[in-house]
Amino acid sequence: MPHTTAHQGQLAPERTGEPCVLLKLGEIVLKGRNRRQFERILHQNIRAAARETGVPVDLCLRAGVIMARVADGTLRGEAGRAEAAARLAERMRDVPGIVRVCQPLRVARTAQAVVDAAVALTADKDGTFAVRPRRRDKRFPLTSAELAVLVGREIQNAHGLGVDLRHPDTEVFIEVDTEEVFVFTGGLPGQGGLPVGMSGRAVALMSGGIDSPVAAYRMMRRGLRCSFVHFSGIPLTGPESIFKAYALVRGLDRFQGRSRLFVVPFGKAQQALASSGADRLQIMAQRRLMLKTGAALANRLGGSALITGDSLGQVSSQTLANITALDDAVTLPILRPLIGWDKSEIMAEGRRIGTLAISELPDQDCCTLLTPRRVETRARIDDLRRIEGRLDVADLAEELAMSAQEYRQ
Ligand code: ATP
Ligand code: MG
Repeated sequence: MPHTTAHQGQLAPERTGEPCVLLKLGEIVLKGRNRRQFERILHQNIRAAARETGVPVDLCLRAGVIMARVADGTLRGEAGRAEAAARLAERMRDVPGIVRVCQPLRVARTAQAVVDAAVALTADKDGTFAVRPRRRDKRFPLTSAELAVLVGREIQNAHGLGVDLRHPDTEVFIEVDTEEVFVFTGGLPGQGGLPVGMSGRAVALMSGGIDSPVAAYRMMRRGLRCSFVHFSGIPLTGPESIFKAYALVRGLDRFQGRSRLFVVPFGKAQQALASSGADRLQIMAQRRLMLKTGAALANRLGGSALITGDSLGQVSSQTLANITALDDAVTLPILRPLIGWDKSEIMAEGRRIGTLAISELPDQDCCTLLTPRRVETRARIDDLRRIEGRLDVADLAEELAMSAQEYRQ
């Protein structure tokens, strides 16, 4: 990646430095090939996300950080560049693989330039401050301690702020790099995790409920690119659950981009299972058919796992015995990131990522159709296979996958 190491040109002519975006990378324990892959995929994802903002960027890799500069010549003036950098920074907070997003001024490697930027950045601050210098490049003429003393004294002189190294109101970070120095206050958390795509692809089973979007998000964050499948009770139910699934996928799309949702009309297949005597096993037989259909889709899309929002014991289909019977339905691994989560924890996460409000809209889930009076909590695999045998369920799953209607974001 020559563009990551090449010299990045002149500093922009702003008085106190060039507003840019500094992205701190997670999982820095990664070594060698994994690390290069991490960086390569993250670069692609950052570029794709940046494109949506309309801000042209130059990306440069430094040790453990990526610097995103607003490309030269496209925006004039300090205000335009600062506004573009802020827009870019906000968008980067949703890109998995980035742990922290900062908005520094990028200045020349001189003590005076650092002082000017630090004084400018603290002009509107009150209370106390601390200077936190760090040298990624040790060839800088001042030590970290010398920098802290120098910059601290100048900020005090300029604004009369007090120093408090333990609990300051404002931290002034100075990061000395090979080509430049970054000076900033604050910074915001990113998503952390791994870049989407680094772990391959999977198909997420997406109801209109609370759990499945959170489950998909957690796996995206571990580097899986997700396609989504939703089973609608149509024509036996209304289309509301489809609208919800679509809205949920749309909400999650900002974490990965280019999301695909497949909607499977499932009502008739549910009736067929009921007619073949599923009875107390109706829910379990439906869930197995969903998984088999998901596996058929995964096969078509190059996915190597399924994702569900199962949480141990939360509902009757999620007892250990029933989970075992669900695993038996497909050869693909079924990833259940929420298996050990309480409902309150899942809801808090759904609120944080913005899916909860959509999940809570009313709809009629296909699972509420044809629900038996008593639900089996210890389904026997043999019984389920017998019901499926009467229906030629492998073909049915293929047909359902073929009948899926695709919605792209
Ligand atoms: P959720 O809140 O995700 O709907 P839930 O607590 O309601 O979960 P179930 O209804 O048993 O639990 O569903 C368990 C999992 O099965 C869901 O998390 C989802 O992955 C999958 N699933 C259930 N119904 C559907 C559906 N209609 N379409 C797609 N996947 C579904
Ligand atoms: Mg549900």
